[in-house]
Amino acid sequence: MLLTGFPRVSLAHLPTRLEILPRLSEHLGGPEIWVKRDDCTGLATGGNKTRKLEFSMGEALERGADTVITVGAVQSNHVRQTAAAACKLGLKCEVLLEHRVTNPTELYRSSGNVLLDRIFGANLREYDAGTDFDAEMENIAREISAAGGSPYIIPGGASNPVGALGYVGCGEELLQQCDEQDVRFDHIVTATGSAGTHAGLAVGLRGSGSDLPVLGIGVRAPKDVQEERVYKLAVEVADLVDKPGCVARDDIVADCNYIGAGYGLPTESMNEAVLMLARTEGLLFDPVYSGKALAGMIDYVREGRFTKDEKIVFLHTGGAAGLFAYADILDL
Ligand SMILES: *Cc1c(COP(=O)(O)O)cnc(C)c1O
Repeated sequence: MLLTGFPRVSLAHLPTRLEILPRLSEHLGGPEIWVKRDDCTGLATGGNKTRKLEFSMGEALERGADTVITVGAVQSNHVRQTAAAACKLGLKCEVLLEHRVTNPTELYRSSGNVLLDRIFGANLREYDAGTDFDAEMENIAREISAAGGSPYIIPGGASNPVGALGYVGCGEELLQQCDEQDVRFDHIVTATGSAGTHAGLAVGLRGSGSDLPVLGIGVRAPKDVQEERVYKLAVEVADLVDKPGCVARDDIVADCNYIGAGYGLPTESMNEAVLMLARTEGLLFDPVYSGKALAGMIDYVREGRFTKDEKIVFLHTGGAAGLFAYADILDL
């Protein structure tokens, strides 16, 4: 066990299910494809940030915080899950929303995740793309402290070493399920953005002695930038769980060829992937992260990079709440 001794609050429904997708596998005529259902973590429509928030919020409470401050894009799933967790724990939630997507539609600005943020009563502040959010969050923290409050900053995506512990736990959980369900995978595929999921998963697997290859499908940064970001975080996480050096640089692989025109902007292959999984398996994926990652996985199958005799597990990081914000952008 890599996670004993860290402050943690229970927020997620764990373990999430590990399920086979027979109709998708047949549809693609390819490998046996499974899904790890981290879209079903249970908090406010679920998603991958809930595992991370168990540790971020654990630390916030341990430090006596009464307010959490965090940041994300307007349709951030991380912000939505943080706002919900704050309500559940009786904390105030200050949110910095970045206008990261150019020419947003009315639905993008008002529906999906941001609607849920408002329902949770988070205090939303909006900023232009490229704002120095670390500095701005520090400013807000100082104001709160000066007024007698006790702020705790959660970085974007909860992707610091503490938040990434959530995905160390996911790696351990997956290995245990592989034993219980008697299945061995050749690859795990995940979306990779702010890097905590990818980094934590790599440490959870390698730190437990598994050499299962992890493929991150990028949603924002170019490959070299993304891999460096994940690796740097993985090194810190490995130190934190006392498995220094368990992840090697060439163990961190990101494929950033499925981003299209940019973060949060739809692609044809994402559109196809979202409809394919809905119509073969009754599963919902999102336009920004899991849908693009799925498009990558499908392309790997079609290109023969994942072969017919292999077994693949796709980590479903959630995000379907964002679909409503993309209702008039999806090609149905
Ligand atoms: C945040 C998010 C990701 C990416 O996870 P990171 O830890 O930021 O790399 C993937 N999918 C969904 C749905 C997300 O909200």
